[in-house]
Amino acid sequence: MPVSAPRVCGHCGGVHQSGERCPKAAARDRERKARFDRKRPNSSQRGYDREWEKAAKEFLAQQENWWCACGAPATVVMHRRSIRTAPHLRMERANWRPGCHRCNAIDAAAERRKLKGK
Ligand SMILES: [Zn+2]
Ligand SMILES: [Zn+2]
Repeated sequence: MPVSAPRVCGHCGGVHQSGERCPKAAARDRERKARFDRKRPNSSQRGYDREWEKAAKEFLAQQENWWCACGAPATVVMHRRSIRTAPHLRMERANWRPGCHRCNAIDAAAERRKLKGK
């Protein structure tokens, strides 16, 4: 039975027997997975997003919402008041306006700048 030599670990710099899992690498993988799980939306958030998508589609199907303020065809629903500062207005139609991807991106960038400036 071939026995491979112990190897120097690239993670912790220590020496592990062949087949032995580096405890540091294992801890890092666990931490990575935990972080991923935290980022994954829970089921109620996923349901909320489905509701949002359906409502947004209906909103954009109405003729008065066909066009973005810039004149491009509207493809997304933008919020008049940012849902970062007013999350309760997320599903409020009065807080919605039709937007195009470009304006939405500009809006989002402006908001990120504003948040950073604080
Ligand atoms: Zn190691
Ligand atoms: Zn636009």
